[in-house]
This record gives sequence, C-alpha cells and structure tokens, in this order.
Amino acid sequence: MPNIEHNIAKLYQRIAASAEKSARKPESVLLLAVSKTRSAQEIQTAYQLGLHHFGENYLQDALDKIEQLKDLAIYWHFIGPLQSNKTRLVAENFDWVHTIDRLKIAQRLSDQRSSDKAPLNCCIQVNIDREVSKSGIAAEELENLASQILALPHLRLRGLMAIPALSNDHHQQAQSFAKMATLLRQLRAQIPAAASQLDTLSMGMSVDLELAIKEGASIVRIGTALFGPRSPIKKIN
Ligand SMILES: *Cc1c(COP(=O)(O)O)cnc(C)c1O
Repeated sequence: MPNIEHNIAKLYQRIAASAEKSARKPESVLLLAVSKTRSAQEIQTAYQLGLHHFGENYLQDALDKIEQLKDLAIYWHFIGPLQSNKTRLVAENFDWVHTIDRLKIAQRLSDQRSSDKAPLNCCIQVNIDREVSKSGIAAEELENLASQILALPHLRLRGLMAIPALSNDHHQQAQSFAKMATLLRQLRAQIPAAASQLDTLSMGMSVDLELAIKEGASIVRIGTALFGPRSPIKKIN
C-alpha cells in the first residue's frame, strides 16, 4: 500500500514544519495512528513503516485486531467513549486511555489493571468548548478529578485530551488549543508533586494538527490523513 507510505512521509513533514515554527523538536510530537474501522492488514502496513502507536474507538473491533496483531510491539490507545461495563477489557488490553471523564471509570480501570503490567497511562478528556453533545469534563472540575486519579495505584495520569468544536474559524480553534495548554500548566502548578508526569496534551487531528502543535500538542491523533477517508457510517464521538 504505497499510499500509506506517502501519507506518513507527508504527515512527518507537516509535523516537523509546525514544530519548527514554534521552536519545538519534531520528536516531541507523537503521531498516533487512529485505526478505527481499518483492517489489521492496514495497521500492519503502517507498523512496518515505523508507526507503533495506534488509537481505537470501538472496543470489540479493537480487541479482534489486538488479538490478530499480538506479535507486534504495538502500543494501543483507547480514544473512544468508555462505559463502566467495558473497563475490564480496556484495562487488560490497552496501554493508554485518552477519554477519562469521571472517577468511577478511573477507579474501575485501576482496580482491573493487573499489577504485573505497567500502570495504564491516562488522559482526562476536557470538554473545552462546552458542547452539550460532547463528552469530557468542564475545566472547573479538572483539579479535583486529577487529584483523585493521581491517588489510584494502577493508573498513571499523563495529561489532557480534547476534541474542540468543529469550526472553520482558525482563530477560535487556536484559542481552544491554547486553553488546553493553559489548563495543563495550571494543573502542574496546582499539583507540583505530579508536575513531571503531566507531560501530555492529546489534541489535533488530520485537519488541524498544525494549530494543535503550535499550541503545544504532544500527541496528534491522525486517521484520515494517514489511511484515507473512512466509510461514513461510523462517526467520531
Ligand atoms: C476518529 C478520531 C480521530 C481521527 O480523526 P481524523 O480526522 O480522521 O484524523 C482523532 N481523535 C478521535 C477521538 C477520533 O475519534
């Protein structure tokens, strides 16, 4: 699949160009390949081209692929909405969860994470544009939830995640990303003991990765620009 190879090269160029513009190192930005709706074969192709982090939204679909690809050293990131009856399978099969938005879910993930495994890396999802339809907590609830998650033994809180409102207004989008960076800085100041582990801003997708990197994204979550358009049946959350 020469397409994926070409797309990866283009994405690395976009990441490098935007990192350099804001005096950041390109390696400080992780390209997370969003592989929802993609086949195990496509994931394997991307893996062989050097991508090792993959993001999935739909648990059952993800578990099938994780099983098929278990011989590859893939880091699996869960980036979809998470219900409490699904936490066990996530705790057992993933390395990261980006979408924590309540204590109950975090508690269950920590209880269900085996102690032989590294702690599950987590981000708190923030509803940065206060959209009624979107998951994530309000900025005011962040410090409280973060302190509670930091007390859980089998989770490692790494930072924040957001999906800003769809908009053609670059200025407004840049503001949403900048607010996320401010929230992470504030959180580090509020909880100094955890400051060094709070190193992650998961934000930016295919169309807006430049803006997100400019405002400090450390993980960009890229589907379409890597694998091509998805079938329209499955939407993002
Ligand atoms: C699907 C999805 C993405 C990737 O979106 P693209 O526009 O295809 O790059 C990123 N983040 C989340 C949470 C998603 O669900």
